[in-house]
Amino acid sequence: MYELAERLVREGRLSAPEYLALLTRCDDSTWFFLRHEAVRTAQERFGCAIFVRGLIEISSYCRNDCHYCGLRRSNRRAERYRLSPEQILATCEAGFEAGFRTFVLQGGEDPWWSDEWLVPLVKEIHRRWPEAAITLSLGERSETSYRALHEAGAARYLLRHEAADRSLYEQLHPAEMSHAGRLACIEQLKAIGFQTGMGMMVGAPGQRVEHLVEDLLLLERIEPQMIGIGPFLPHRDTPYGAEPAGDLRLTLLLLAILRLRFPQALIPSTTALATLHPEGRLQGILSGANVVMPNLSPESVRSKYAIYDGKASSGAEAAEGLRLLAEELRGIGYGIDFSRGDYQR
Ligand code: SAM
Repeated sequence: MYELAERLVREGRLSAPEYLALLTRCDDSTWFFLRHEAVRTAQERFGCAIFVRGLIEISSYCRNDCHYCGLRRSNRRAERYRLSPEQILATCEAGFEAGFRTFVLQGGEDPWWSDEWLVPLVKEIHRRWPEAAITLSLGERSETSYRALHEAGAARYLLRHEAADRSLYEQLHPAEMSHAGRLACIEQLKAIGFQTGMGMMVGAPGQRVEHLVEDLLLLERIEPQMIGIGPFLPHRDTPYGAEPAGDLRLTLLLLAILRLRFPQALIPSTTALATLHPEGRLQGILSGANVVMPNLSPESVRSKYAIYDGKASSGAEAAEGLRLLAEELRGIGYGIDFSRGDYQR
């Protein structure tokens, strides 16, 4: 295994059977070696600094019915809320004052957020804080909508592919959602000029290691600027409520492989990782991640954006949250990078 790992470090890629071997038979010393090399690679590009993105969860309404997600429309027990444009602008203002230079507007696929409302909101955020990057993560929309949002000032879009393997994708989603449609959206976003994020859960029900290899190959083909992965975590009011959570070791190994394969990518250490393990967020950084996305959503709605059980959220307001994060990062020899942190080739 060690030779394979060394070759990944030296050449920056492996073949599909080699990825499979590494993911299935990685011994402890190879695991440590890969994470160590991933951290070195990240530090060469980004120093000991982590980009911060302020996450604003704008709506918990969703028209989709993904089997894994607590916000799925069939979950009658989900608490629904929608932030108003004024609340979102006030949240951006507090975030900007605290030092954030990226705002990520994320939410369920809420039909209320049509272009009629969303485009003026993006324009207004862009007008008020032109030095801040606007990232959207609002699911599948029409190409016309993506284009209008890009023109309005959104520079980045996160849309996880969820599963490169079509049958796994179909198993995780209801029949009306299509694998081809998801990939088409991702291709459109990239072609329009968005810095585009893809990704998948690790340990989703029915997922095998072979599926993760397919994910790596898809990422190689599309080369997104951002790659978000995190463990699957069950939500009690979904069909997967009794399924086991994704594996920490495998998630960290994948993060390390992603960093070595895509040295310049923006890779977050996700909230799901922080929820899975108390040290998950720091361990993600110590596997090559270089972004964290603190939650800026108003306190009153945070517990309602429940995509899985036990979702970590510090409860601290923006500035206080950043101070705590800076302290945590200092503990592992890192600091916060307050710049916009755009993708650099
Ligand atoms: N609706 C938008 C979309 O689908 O892209 C953005 C919000 S969606 C809740 C963001 C991501 O959360 C999904 O891409 C999915 O990978 C992740 N997610 C949802 N349920 C999850 C779960 N139970 N465990 C871990 N991640 C989950």
